[in-house]
Amino acid sequence: MKTPDALIRLSSLLAKLPGVGRRSADRMAMALMRDQGTLLRDLAFSLQDAATKLKICPQCGSITQADEIPCGLCTDPRRNGKILCVVEDPGDIITIERAGGFQGRYHALMGKISPAKGDGIVQLRLDALLARVAREQVEEIIIALNADVESDATASFIRESLAGRNIRITRLARGIPTGAGVAPCRRDDARAGHRESPRILMACSRNKAGGERC
Ligand SMILES: [Zn+2]
Repeated sequence: MKTPDALIRLSSLLAKLPGVGRRSADRMAMALMRDQGTLLRDLAFSLQDAATKLKICPQCGSITQADEIPCGLCTDPRRNGKILCVVEDPGDIITIERAGGFQGRYHALMGKISPAKGDGIVQLRLDALLARVAREQVEEIIIALNADVESDATASFIRESLAGRNIRITRLARGIPTGAGVAPCRRDDARAGHRESPRILMACSRNKAGGERC
């Protein structure tokens, strides 16, 4: 029997998701079909809903409602626009916001400089970052990237690009295991004294003596 084209396409699309291999995608597709419709229909509706109602904020890169651009993080007058937290992707913004306490603004790069994968400066939102720093007269940048080679290259690029300007640049995430990302950090890491926690990010931004000077 020939595998239905729709099933092949569903599995192929699922396999494009991060961390999902071909076999996992096949299992997911079969699970959706075994459910005989409810989960499949709900998922289809949710995907359609997300496609029409959610956008990427052009300013900071966070996920926002399509009718709220720039996003609430960028327009909230209570947030300090002089402090920018640079992260890899929108998920990191959600993680830090959930931890609570940081009152600056964000800039998601949508990746890191990775020559091996062909991800260079052009593909990232680095030019947008530099333009934003000048336009918004940013005084402090907190780099909240993982501790890996690509993050180091990205942080170095940011530091070199802003050299000579009177901007304080701090780097977080030293010590986070490679590949672990910002997300696994727990709120109580701060109480344990780890510098990598998003909670420490808040401390760095409040206390000019904190953080690692780059
Ligand atoms: Zn925004």
